[in-house]
Amino acid sequence: MTRTTVRSDAPDDLRSRVSGAVVTPADVDFDAARAVWNSMIDRRPAAIVRAAGVEDIAPTIGFARERGLDLAVRGGGHNVAGSGTVSDGIVLDLGELTEVTVDPAARTVRVQSGATLAHVDAATAPHDLAVPVGVVSGTGIAGLTLGGGMGWLTRAYGLTADNLVAVDLVTADGRPVTATETENPELFWALHGGGGNFGVVSAFTFRAYPLGPRVFAGNLVYGQERWRQAWAALDEWTRELPDAMTTITSTLTPPPLLGLGEAPVLLIGFVWASPDRAAGEALVDRLRALAPPDVEEVGDVSWVEWQSAVDAMFPRGVRAYWRNTSFDRLDDEVVDVLVRRGAEQTWYGTGFDVHHLGGAFGRVPQDTTAFPQRSARFWLNVYGFWGDAADDDDRVAFVRGLSADLDPFATGGQYVNFQGQEVTGHRVQDPRVVFGERAFERLVAVKRQYDPDNVFRLNHNIPPR
Ligand SMILES: Cc1cc2nc3c(=O)[nH]c(=O)nc-3n(C[C@H](O)[C@H](O)[C@H](O)COP(=O)(O)OP(=O)(O)OC[C@H]3O[C@@H](n4cnc5c(N)ncnc54)[C@H](O)[C@@H]3O)c2cc1C
Repeated sequence: MTRTTVRSDAPDDLRSRVSGAVVTPADVDFDAARAVWNSMIDRRPAAIVRAAGVEDIAPTIGFARERGLDLAVRGGGHNVAGSGTVSDGIVLDLGELTEVTVDPAARTVRVQSGATLAHVDAATAPHDLAVPVGVVSGTGIAGLTLGGGMGWLTRAYGLTADNLVAVDLVTADGRPVTATETENPELFWALHGGGGNFGVVSAFTFRAYPLGPRVFAGNLVYGQERWRQAWAALDEWTRELPDAMTTITSTLTPPPLLGLGEAPVLLIGFVWASPDRAAGEALVDRLRALAPPDVEEVGDVSWVEWQSAVDAMFPRGVRAYWRNTSFDRLDDEVVDVLVRRGAEQTWYGTGFDVHHLGGAFGRVPQDTTAFPQRSARFWLNVYGFWGDAADDDDRVAFVRGLSADLDPFATGGQYVNFQGQEVTGHRVQDPRVVFGERAFERLVAVKRQYDPDNVFRLNHNIPPR
């Protein structure tokens, strides 16, 4: 697409086509409207359309295409690489479309694409149901789902995308299309991990599962002298875990709100997604026996509270850079890297999470979805975030350093949702590496069918040719 200068009649023309607000650099709320979660992404769109309804989607796509303008699509604005915004182009912001409708009998949930995880959990919790989503409640359901969606129910019920029943979207030519297992099945396949490449989603329908209102969950906390023992225990413990137990192990310098001091700590966090509490307790006892924690906070918590428990650690407007890798081993070589790098983090903000996988996630056959890697035991997300631009180089170097140290152990694939931008530009990693050659070729074929002109390219882009 060639970029053209925005003509002065553009905002009026756009306003005449949509019912939502159109915010331009001339408006007082422009800076608030253009801000995304990662404040390193400082882009100035020509206009931001705040869709007031699904009917605003097609005219916005049409306007951007007619004028030859780049189009960014935004849900929750959490994408760390900043793909939900663009300079000099149009941002289609769906953040006001947040309706969530639960069908308790069918155990399905229809979610408009501007909803956050908080909207989804708030709507399902009164029915003691949950959709497997991510761990920070302000994250957008759209970007999360289209990339995959990992969280506290991944081993129990798979990725967020694994629980899609239907996706309603508007394609590049303005057509409403529904994708299900039987209707447009190749598109449906691509929407399980292939990102925002194929159209603008208006709504997702998910399967939901009985859960709560309280769950057995918590954190076992280890000071530095016990890290090796904790990693060894995790290696052994996770080999025989039932699906209902999902753990995420974090190494970070704790924020003051946790009251854990200022030195880096290792936290084994878990959620037991089963009503058989005694069985969950027995499993946690076994972990305690393998590696007694220095401190712990374990018990029955409200699912909704648990889902927003770490929100304050990830505020909007921080500076951020992330990378990820999958691996199979927690042997001495890998643990050496995790312990050495973990101890280097003496500042609050940056940390890394090791998601234990397998379970329902691991049993989904690789070719059933576009998600790049199902067989690895672990997926690591190293997340840097900080407040001062003077720290950019150091923090980015830490994230890249840990990622590079783990390269020799990587089992392949990249999780698009845990990728940051390369700091100097809008460059993201080669999609052949991200998705693997076979899935990449299949994604290209779907892209060619639904977006041959690559209108939706501000993402981890699948080129149509
Ligand atoms: C604090 C924080 C915590 C996170 N925790 C988790 C976690 O627990 N698990 C996990 O898996 N991920 C997590 N993530 C990563 C998250 O999944 C991605 O950043 C995701 O892209 C965010 O989606 P969004 O809608 O908020 O982002 P946006 O920036 O709004 O959108 C990201 C991209 O998604 C696409 N998109 C958005 N809306 C639409 C739409 N309606 N139609 C088509 N395409 C669309 C576009 O390509 C867009 O560029 C977290 C991110 C942050 C910042």
